[in-house]
Amino acid sequence: MRLRNKPWAKEYIEDNCDLVIPNPQQYKGKWNELFGNDHPIHIEVGTGKGQFIIGMAEQNPTINYIGIELFESVIVEALKKLKETNLENVRLLNINANDLTEIFSKNEINCVYLNFSDPWPKSRHEKRRLTYASFLKKYEEILVEEGEIHFKTDNQGLFEYSLKSFSQYGLLLKFLSLDLHNSDFEGNVMTEYEEKFSAKGQPIFRVEAKYQNVK
Ligand code: SAM
Repeated sequence: MRLRNKPWAKEYIEDNCDLVIPNPQQYKGKWNELFGNDHPIHIEVGTGKGQFIIGMAEQNPTINYIGIELFESVIVEALKKLKETNLENVRLLNINANDLTEIFSKNEINCVYLNFSDPWPKSRHEKRRLTYASFLKKYEEILVEEGEIHFKTDNQGLFEYSLKSFSQYGLLLKFLSLDLHNSDFEGNVMTEYEEKFSAKGQPIFRVEAKYQNVK
């Protein structure tokens, strides 16, 4: 993700605190109260400029979506897009995924989306990959029993690594595709990165991985 310095970003985020939630720790265990309903909550970790989360929310009005993004200068682009809609089932968090368990309780989240996560190809950076075991543990700590991770990427190395990591962790792999756009998967919402890479002819890899009761 190319980062541009946007001096206005901080203030713009603060001015929209109904959509980019400040101090999200205060809602731990109470996110349904914030949304004002008991609908399931899905999160996207590394939401980028927000096209996926907004598209998913338009497609599924009875699911609540939370987009999580580390950088202010990136999340403001998602915020701008969100403000052009009347969606009530999306919120954004400007936080690091390392802090997920401080923000959500066990059983609070039904699904985690990881889309085109940074590959961190050097092995000394393995721990930063969002499919590394310590992240899988964090997701497990906030997901419902048999909660799911839906992961897509154009990066074959990261995909292979992630399948291994999911499987070593004991996740059940489902709906594996090595060419999502030429598969029978329905209802795909493209991310910004997905549009860019698929326009260059690169296949998109996708998998759904489910936590199991017995480990
Ligand atoms: N998902 C978007 C897409 O497919 O267009 C963006 C993909 S971009 C390669 C990865 C995004 O994940 C970046 O915006 C980055 O800032 C964010 N990110 C990476 N590590 C993160 C972390 N630990 N917590 C929150 N966001 C993170």
